Amino acid sequence: MRDYAVLLKRLHELNLPYNIIGEVTNCPIYLYHLESLSSNPIYILITGGVHGDEPAGVEAVLKFLARDNTELLEHFSFNIIPCINPYGYVHDKRENSKNVDINRSFEKEDVLEAVIVKEAVRDKQYTLAIDFHEDYDAKGFYLYEGIRDGGFIGPEITEVVQTIGPIDTDDSGEDTEAIAQGVYKVNSKWGMQGLAPYLLHKHSKHVIITETPTEWKLDQRIALHLGVLDTALTYFK
Ligand SMILES: [Zn+2]
Repeated sequence: MRDYAVLLKRLHELNLPYNIIGEVTNCPIYLYHLESLSSNPIYILITGGVHGDEPAGVEAVLKFLARDNTELLEHFSFNIIPCINPYGYVHDKRENSKNVDINRSFEKEDVLEAVIVKEAVRDKQYTLAIDFHEDYDAKGFYLYEGIRDGGFIGPEITEVVQTIGPIDTDDSGEDTEAIAQGVYKVNSKWGMQGLAPYLLHKHSKHVIITETPTEWKLDQRIALHLGVLDTALTYFK
């Protein structure tokens, strides 16, 4: 069991602007806004904790919020949802309190967490949305990438971040084509059930889902998520 109040306390200590976009099982879901210094910013969405048993995503978001992002804010504005599935986070469970996988529910209107996120991004358009995940079976990291048009950057990202840890050599990408080792395409066949495919369809030109192996140390998993994010951002400046 994790304590959501502890997570909220850690977030409050950062003293950054947020609003509450909804509440599930008495837990508020936060959306942070880091506003760019530019008058013409590039909008980025960062999300963690849609699967409650994948804590490195939430920790990566916390680390991102806690660090100095001044240089990035010259170009980018960030919307950040640290923890989409508070119940899962507390109970170390993939699904929400109703045993539903939120990341398969974005086409439905009866899964509260998905509805809250959809409502929060309703009027937004992002250049990149990145969603942090973990994999219990993987030995290395991998990612999924989806893009409306233009080239895939995943192969170059994995090249850079493999200094943090090895790329998964198994064919871990579920039900989709590999673009390079450790880079899988967000498959249009998946529809919009998942958060990233939903965002790609409606709110973001480019999406990345990072997957770290749970067996790595937490710090290494956090570094990988942020390494992918930072490398990806260099392409949009
Ligand atoms: Zn996941």
